[in-house]
Amino acid sequence: MYPSTSASIDAAISHRKVALQRVKARGQMDQRGLPAHVLIFPFPVQGHVNSMLKLAELLSLSGLHVTFLNSDYNHRRLLDYTNIQARFTRYPDFRFETISDGLPADHPRSGGRVMELFDSLEAITKPHFREMLTSGRLSSDTRTPVTCVIADGVLSFAIDIANEIGIMSIVFRTISACCLWTELCFPQLIEAGEVPFKGKEDMDQLVTSVAGMEGFLRRRDLPGFCRVDDVSDQGFDVVMTETQKTSRADALILNTFEELEGPILSHIRSRCPILYTLGPLHAHLKTRLVAETTSSSSPSPTQSSSSLWKEDRSCMTWLDARPSKSVIYVSFGSITVFTRDQFMEFWYGLVNSKKSFLWVIRPDSVAGKDEESDIPAELSKGTKERGYMVDWAPQEEVLVHPAIGGFLTHSGWNSTLESIVAGVPMICWPYFSDQQVNSRFVSEVWKLGLDMKDTCDRGTVEKMVNDLMEVRQDEFNRSADMMAKLARKCVSEGGSSYLNLDRLIDDIRQRRIAED
Ligand code: UDP
Repeated sequence: MYPSTSASIDAAISHRKVALQRVKARGQMDQRGLPAHVLIFPFPVQGHVNSMLKLAELLSLSGLHVTFLNSDYNHRRLLDYTNIQARFTRYPDFRFETISDGLPADHPRSGGRVMELFDSLEAITKPHFREMLTSGRLSSDTRTPVTCVIADGVLSFAIDIANEIGIMSIVFRTISACCLWTELCFPQLIEAGEVPFKGKEDMDQLVTSVAGMEGFLRRRDLPGFCRVDDVSDQGFDVVMTETQKTSRADALILNTFEELEGPILSHIRSRCPILYTLGPLHAHLKTRLVAETTSSSSPSPTQSSSSLWKEDRSCMTWLDARPSKSVIYVSFGSITVFTRDQFMEFWYGLVNSKKSFLWVIRPDSVAGKDEESDIPAELSKGTKERGYMVDWAPQEEVLVHPAIGGFLTHSGWNSTLESIVAGVPMICWPYFSDQQVNSRFVSEVWKLGLDMKDTCDRGTVEKMVNDLMEVRQDEFNRSADMMAKLARKCVSEGGSSYLNLDRLIDDIRQRRIAED
């Protein structure tokens, strides 16, 4: 049985009160006068590493001691494909540490099999993490033991261990606030019989148990994990259990901004009152780096890629030769896997749209891609004339290139924020997790594009590309420009995310977290 709503909220509040007392009691500074030491631990996949590494850099800029915990597997790839080591040498108090994710090197860690990471992290990584934190090996004469753990919100064991040893614990959820709120409402959705709904015919039926979204959230817009027969399904259960534990931490960090998700953030604050919205983190980091370079006359920071695949930069040259806002950028992130049929429908739709396209096709993203089959002549011709395909692109740079006029995306939260900051309208084809919710907000609430979820036939792809890039281009560009301005403002001096980061840094330094 799941706890009733009021019982679970009461439990969360009393848990938080104890947590606050604990944090207040350890308010004193380190006796050696050393700065606070933050350990940051992301769930080891691309999107989570990207945003948490940006936060790590922002905290390092402020002079805090920071340790970033990568899986061995990801760290090797970062060393192979980026300048990560050189980039962080400018922060003498920053360290990388690595830990096993428990999976063999040849495990795909994508598509349906990404959930296997949860089991192996719990079984294999957790005891190593505990040992790492309790053994004192992360401290030295010039480095205090860890004083604060910022752990990915789907790694609640890290929060529990931080609480056990009595240090500050902060959850970082890398998803949107709108999705986090739906996940926090899973118990109410179950109680009302609105979840699970796999096999129920009317996917357009409105959902009523997520406060604030009653008028527009349909079954099909709920997080992908809800598409199950039974709530004991592993994916659904893991997400619900991990999310309900958010309030065990002293505070919550989200990569979003008040001007984008304000009303939903108010709902989340009713459960997690100490909430720092710091996003969009990639833009925030850029602002602070520019400010720091200007004031210290230190050399301008180099590109800050955290890619786990080798970026093919030739696409930037290809874009340079294209007219303004003429290209649709197509990318489905680091985890999406589609069938060969879906892949062919997208390909036909893009070619038939007659628009130029830059398409990222990860080597492991199409099931059965290696099977022998001839490419139809019309696709080869159309692609040669107007298309460019790469294994992996420098996405943040691509999106701000003047030639980009639209983004066909899987609606991952990082991709969505990167598109928002760049002022690029979107066509959304969500794959799983928060993406189904994000795409509904992009189209219905923020009016930043079109939602193509649950279909990708070539006719629809062609029509939506033309609607976005031509028929309704002015309308979407206007709203995208407006939101981009708000995003940039909130990470500028005095903006909401800017002030929240200052407050977070101050709270970590003082080893205290207090309600406003
Ligand atoms: N990304 C990239 N190059 C690519 C495709 C994606 O650098 O060719 C980056 C993208 O900028 C984003 C991240 O990978 O920061 C993907 O995260 P997101 O949350 O959008 O989706 P996920 O991969 O977690 O599904």
